[in-house]
Amino acid sequence: MRPEINAIFHAHDQSALEFADELKIPCTEREQLRGSYELAKEANKLLGLRKDIKYFVLRKHGVISMGETMEEAGRLAEYMNKMARNKTQRRGRK
Ligand SMILES: [Zn+2]
Repeated sequence: MRPEINAIFHAHDQSALEFADELKIPCTEREQLRGSYELAKEANKLLGLRKDIKYFVLRKHGVISMGETMEEAGRLAEYMNKMARNKTQRRGRK
């Protein structure tokens, strides 16, 4: 689907999950069993609708960060984690 993507990071980033709506992070429609074909289909559906995204949430599971290189995908995952943790701290939690 995305020939420019060569690297995919997957993380169970609780801060990003918690603040996905607030940070306007695209999210899969339904929660699906981890590692299932249905989960892959959910991700595929989102990527079909949003052809430009490089970062999204798998509902109630984790995040996917994509890039042309490992470095790009990794930096994006770190950046989004930092943005989400900033939100957490502003609410007075750690
Ligand atoms: Zn996972």
